[in-house]
Amino acid sequence: MQKLNNASAQKRLTIKLIVAAVVILAAAMLLYLFYPQTKQAQQAADIKYTDSLLAMDTYMTFTVYGDNAEKATNEVKALITDCEKSWSVTDENSEISRLNRTGEAVLSLRTKDLLEKAKAYCRYTDGHFDPTIYPLVRAWGFTTGEYRVPASDELEELKKLTGADKLILLDDKAILSEGSMVDLGGVAKGYVGDLAMQTLKQNGIKSALISLGGNVQTLGVKPDGKNWIVGIRSPYDNGLIGKISIGEGCVITSGAYERHFTAEDGTLYGHIISPFTGKPAANGLVSVTIVADTGSKADALSTALFVMGTEEAIRFWKENAGFEVIMLSDDGTLFVSEGIYASFEPLDSKDVKTICEIKR
Ligand code: ADP
Ligand code: MG
Repeated sequence: MQKLNNASAQKRLTIKLIVAAVVILAAAMLLYLFYPQTKQAQQAADIKYTDSLLAMDTYMTFTVYGDNAEKATNEVKALITDCEKSWSVTDENSEISRLNRTGEAVLSLRTKDLLEKAKAYCRYTDGHFDPTIYPLVRAWGFTTGEYRVPASDELEELKKLTGADKLILLDDKAILSEGSMVDLGGVAKGYVGDLAMQTLKQNGIKSALISLGGNVQTLGVKPDGKNWIVGIRSPYDNGLIGKISIGEGCVITSGAYERHFTAEDGTLYGHIISPFTGKPAANGLVSVTIVADTGSKADALSTALFVMGTEEAIRFWKENAGFEVIMLSDDGTLFVSEGIYASFEPLDSKDVKTICEIKR
């Protein structure tokens, strides 16, 4: 009996030893298989590539992580240069200049897609964002730098040339009404940022931050898994009025002070024009930042809400989902929408007197 017990105890011990050996072997194999990959991935994410580019009238910076970062960034820079050649209103060989000159032009797929989006944002914002604003922008001298204050009857005539219905998009071409002209300056940087993100993704990049003249677009989160911290600039100087913590997304700002001129009577005129008055928008807002998932949306809306002005912009945000706002009014009130209120950190700034959370 004793012998039998000994024998079965020994058998159990042997089984236990075998199981333990199998478990240890399996764990070692898993470690052998996956550890180098984890390490490699970590090392790849640790590779940080930074670069810059002067394009679309602004200074752009790129911070891209991953072992393919340099190649991916070069592709993005080539893409932006290419887009600028297609969309510039001052380059007479661009697709948009050709369209503005002749009133009808065959377009590349990319340009047509951008024009379709621009038309859609014009309708969505009840005409406050208007891609056919160019006759007015030009009359005030914003493209040439020869600034002037046009007479009211001139503005009345030019206003008639604007509106989504003045731009007709057919299969591969665009047609403009007599005298109408397109300006994509209010959406092009956001749209090109979206294309840049696609290019980075196609190159296997999982983490990047690009700033296209202060408009920030991010891919993924930081390599350490944390959120990006994006500064919100004061429209008056280079100081920050706050910062916001975001994962993947876009933070795009429109302000009166970026490009402006001061007339002889001391009035300051900014480069964002109201299609309704024909004049630079002056409805109480000095800066509008939009946080959204795509650059084209954030860019078009930042321009549109700036034109709307304080009350109308708050109403528009309340009635439409899918984006958040940070808006500074000329009396120093900073409006921050509830969706980002918790991730916004105000900084001590002379330009902000009160902070007001807006809720739906
Ligand atoms: P920025 O280009 O400085 O980032 P915006 O995105 O607001 O700022 O774009 C302003 C540009 O958009 C102007 O320089 C002009 O080319 C164009 N624009 C001006 N007013 C309007 C408008 N109401 N709708 C669409 N585009 C506009
Ligand atoms: Mg814009």
